[in-house]
Amino acid sequence: RASAGEEYNYPRWVRVNALKSTLEEQLETTFSKHTRAESIQDIVTKSGRHIYIDPHVPNLLAISAGMDFAKVEAYTSGKIILQDKASCFPAYLLDPRSEDGDVIDACSAPGNKTTHLAAILYKHRPEFEDAPQTIYAFEKDSRRAQTLEKMVKIAGSKSVTRIGFGQDFLQVDPTSEKYKDVGALLLDPSCSGSGIVGRDSMPELHLPDPPTENRGGKGKPAPASTNKKKRRHDEIEEPAQNVLVDDDGVETVVKSEKDLEARLEALSSFQLTLLLHAFRFPRAKKITYSTCSIHSQENERVVIRALASDIAKAKGWRILRREDQVSGLREWPVRGVVEAAEGDEIVAEGCIRSYKGDGHGVMGFFVAGFVRDSV
Ligand code: SAM
Repeated sequence: RASAGEEYNYPRWVRVNALKSTLEEQLETTFSKHTRAESIQDIVTKSGRHIYIDPHVPNLLAISAGMDFAKVEAYTSGKIILQDKASCFPAYLLDPRSEDGDVIDACSAPGNKTTHLAAILYKHRPEFEDAPQTIYAFEKDSRRAQTLEKMVKIAGSKSVTRIGFGQDFLQVDPTSEKYKDVGALLLDPSCSGSGIVGRDSMPELHLPDPPTENRGGKGKPAPASTNKKKRRHDEIEEPAQNVLVDDDGVETVVKSEKDLEARLEALSSFQLTLLLHAFRFPRAKKITYSTCSIHSQENERVVIRALASDIAKAKGWRILRREDQVSGLREWPVRGVVEAAEGDEIVAEGCIRSYKGDGHGVMGFFVAGFVRDSV
């Protein structure tokens, strides 16, 4: 089970923002006092400051915990972004290129993946000469959209990003003239958040913890509002024992397996609707779908249902197979669950997973890509 404090067994993941800096520059400046580590295990077990260059995702570093980033110039100026390795998978897997035209980030706040998309698209010309490609970043929650705006500004990608403040992606008309050049979409919708480090994945299955000063009485879970602690990832807070908190803050009291199933069903039907909406963009040729959930209902099951849909068949959408993926993710060893993919090994191999606590030092995550050949 996840437990409070488990984040201390994880490295700090640092993405170097290619719009503002380079890996080499950061190694020579911000991290010049860090010693190179041979593995993730070294980062979490050895004392002192260590650094590890990630072999899968470009421009990604893992460092020992304990650095106070509020005082680090590279962080406050947007040269580096604190982002879990798994959270870097979607934009990297989408692999947007100049020939893909405009890009949509359908559910974008706080903006980790939006800014990553910009860094991939514009790494060779960060001055945005002519800025031929636009990133449309939609965010239904206006308050979260303001956080997104701040992040996009700090990361230096504001001029190529059009933020849809309070805009519901499902209300966006795929046939609108405005989106006629959209060739790639990244979908990272709200999910159960069960992969987040420090978060219980099955809250109802655990006995209440013994009382501590910030918990309710023995056998009585504390109300969510009194049992919260600042989280590291995306500023999400730890829920009470029997509360499932989605990754965008929606709280559901989970008293039984049935409650959890009902919540997962509601989430997966919303996630599927979003994915099918993305399939409708007339010039789109690539899509990624991701969650920070470990539940197959929100992951392989959504992928399978999407592939079986009439719209997927009519438009020619198929899974992005492992052998066609960007090199780092082709090599990533943790793949989808075959049974959850109804025995379809190609689909399961195409799905990319991660599990917290498995030694890779990342959060629980899922991502799959969809492609089609002609538009
Ligand atoms: N991609 C973000 C990142 O990496 O920083 C995290 C996205 S979070 C998992 C999901 C976000 O989607 C939430 O901010 C939520 O408010 C937003 N959202 C949910 N439904 C939406 C919809 N129909 N249209 C647009 N945004 C939506």
